[in-house]
Amino acid sequence: MRGKRSKAYRKLMSQYNISFGFREPYQVLVDAEILKDADKFRMDLVGGLERTLQGQVKPMITQCSIRHLYALSGSEYPGKDRVIDLAKRFERRRCNHHELEQPLSEKECLEAVIIHGGENKHRYCVATQGGDIRAMLRAVPGVPLIYINRSVMIMEPMAPISAMKRERGEREKFRTGIIDTRPKAGAKRKRLPEEGGGDSEVGARVGDGDGGGDQEKMKKKKRKGPKGPNPLSVKKKKSMPKPSTPKPAGASKPEASTPKSGAGKPAGSGESTNGADNEGRKKRRRKHKSAKADGAPVEAKDGSEPQA
Ligand SMILES: [Zn+2]
Repeated sequence: MRGKRSKAYRKLMSQYNISFGFREPYQVLVDAEILKDADKFRMDLVGGLERTLQGQVKPMITQCSIRHLYALSGSEYPGKDRVIDLAKRFERRRCNHHELEQPLSEKECLEAVIIHGGENKHRYCVATQGGDIRAMLRAVPGVPLIYINRSVMIMEPMAPISAMKRERGEREKFRTGIIDTRPKAGAKRKRLPEEGGGDSEVGARVGDGDGGGDQEKMKKKKRKGPKGPNPLSVKKKKSMPKPSTPKPAGASKPEASTPKSGAGKPAGSGESTNGADNEGRKKRRRKHKSAKADGAPVEAKDGSEPQA
């Protein structure tokens, strides 16, 4: 149950992040009532907010809210000092109502602080026990609302007006092609490795007159074996008449075969020529088979070679 809710909240916050530009640390306006309730249930308010919003939070409290806490009667409310101590650690949100004789009601104060031109301009999350405050803020797009219900911290699902605005934003993105390009790019990436597999070896050697796909394969081949390509193309012609002689020599002394066949090669190091020579032998054998089918269409070669 807890895991399920946490997953839902993560999704919800990522929607607020994407559609309304929320970023960590989330600024959370906390009202006096939720401070009192958290204290009543012995809850870790800040920890709860971080678990609920799934990220770093910056708790804030307005000047009016803290004045309401100071106005509590110590005898009626024994937790007063504890709550004030906690509230003092939060960032004070200046609402400039401190000049007033009496603090504004929290609803009026939060309305003035949060709503500018019908929007949550500063991207506040609001943690409040006031049902009327949450109802007011549900009419503003993009306000994550949090409250405590019997010692469980709850984040409200996205209000309809927020969900509508989010969907409108998504549709606009789709129209401008931001979303549209993503699947295309993914599909391209997928296609390449599929083409590269299978009978690519045959296609790479024979397919001089083939399409772009085979050219891509050839490029890949060259990258895989950087020593291969040039010596091989030189060797093929010279070593074709005597394919059997290098076999016994190559098994024990690969170096011995290099002077015989590699006359046209630059005097390279032993390692590079050995590797090239071994590959060259393989190619020679295949060259014979493919030589019979010279002039035949490429598809026929592809079909016949792997079987033989
Ligand atoms: Zn105020």
